[in-house]
Amino acid sequence: MALILNKDKIRNFRDRIKQLGGEDVSRCYQCGKCTAGCPVAVYMDIKPNQVMRLAQIGGDERVLSSSTIWLCLSCQVCSTRCPAGIDIAGAMDTLRKISVEDKHSSPENSIVKFHKAFLNSVKRSGRLQELEFSVMYNLALLKPLKNMDLAIKLFQKGKIKPFGVSTKDKGNIRNIFRNSRRFIKEKK
Ligand code: SF4
Ligand code: SF4
Repeated sequence: MALILNKDKIRNFRDRIKQLGGEDVSRCYQCGKCTAGCPVAVYMDIKPNQVMRLAQIGGDERVLSSSTIWLCLSCQVCSTRCPAGIDIAGAMDTLRKISVEDKHSSPENSIVKFHKAFLNSVKRSGRLQELEFSVMYNLALLKPLKNMDLAIKLFQKGKIKPFGVSTKDKGNIRNIFRNSRRFIKEKK
């Protein structure tokens, strides 16, 4: 792993993670317990302990365009195992936020699109509307007929409601989205 020796860059990335999510990556001393316990580490392009190291040395480009931050399941195994008390799962979440905010491209583009379609449906309707979500996700993938056979079966069994399910407090849900957007901007 090449060292990136720019002191401002190092400090900026570390501080940004700490400010936005509260995770102090500088405490990591590379014991590797996070990676050893991670159920999906085998599929990641950089392992959780390497993410921590890159975050310490200003390797933002590599981390923010990695598959790792999007493959992470937020299962918390790493955070539970870390002897330095770092919430690595939380750091992965913070890194996803920074990656979207800075418009980094990801090798796991379909996962990014999945998150966006899911959140847009919740933002619009106050809860997930399966039909709307499936259509929007398929369109984002440019595969409008993806999983159509499965959708028809679910529809026939009444598992997908054609007109969705209404929610009383849509306004409050929208406020959550508005406040989190403002929070991220303030922490920039
Ligand atoms: S939270 Fe993410 S990085 Fe941590 S163990 Fe689970 S999948 Fe791996
Ligand atoms: S378990 Fe904690 S201290 Fe060990 S490598 Fe992972 S983040 Fe670093």
